[in-house]
Amino acid sequence: MLNLIIIGAPGSGKGTQAQLIQEHFGLRHFSTGAQIRREIAAGTEIGNTVKDCVERGELVSDELVNKIVESAISQDTQGLIFDGYPRSLAQEEVLDALLKKYHETPIRAFIYLDVRKELLIERILERGKTSGRSDDTLEVFEDRYKAYLEETAPLIDSYRKKGILVEIDGNDTVENIYADHIKPLMESYLK
Ligand code: AMP
Repeated sequence: MLNLIIIGAPGSGKGTQAQLIQEHFGLRHFSTGAQIRREIAAGTEIGNTVKDCVERGELVSDELVNKIVESAISQDTQGLIFDGYPRSLAQEEVLDALLKKYHETPIRAFIYLDVRKELLIERILERGKTSGRSDDTLEVFEDRYKAYLEETAPLIDSYRKKGILVEIDGNDTVENIYADHIKPLMESYLK
């Protein structure tokens, strides 16, 4: 079993790279953001509770996200790529506890895609043309970016201390980032 985290600011390409890892290496891509959007689209109780928060670019409550994550971890047998989770130091602790409770397999690597802000904005605006996501706008980007800097960026140091931080320069094309960094990394884990 292999458990990985892929993280970065909005527009960093974490979802796209996680998807490529799923396609090529068979690890399941688990995105809390995508799961939350499905709940909203289906109009479930959870979806209705978090809708405004997501549209404002804020993080939704830990209690709710942790529930979604526990459900995925408890059903998983192969290992997951966590995309967009954990997003705070409190969530990091919960993730460690959940992996211990269900699998005894800790996180192997925290893959951080480092992308400069101008490029993030460019990508989000481009994605907004087709994604249908109400949070892919310049205004909401700024709030999501603020949440990222305040809540999520401290995780980078935390995982560095744990010795499992993998920093990747994400200022490149999807294809190059995958071929130069992600693919070799995955091959090293799975050999
Ligand atoms: P993402 O698809 O990762 O950009 O997430 C989209 C939105 O879902 C975020 O802006 C948050 O409102 C919410 N979200 C996703 N993951 C989390 C998380 N781990 N904790 C809190 N909110 C989250």
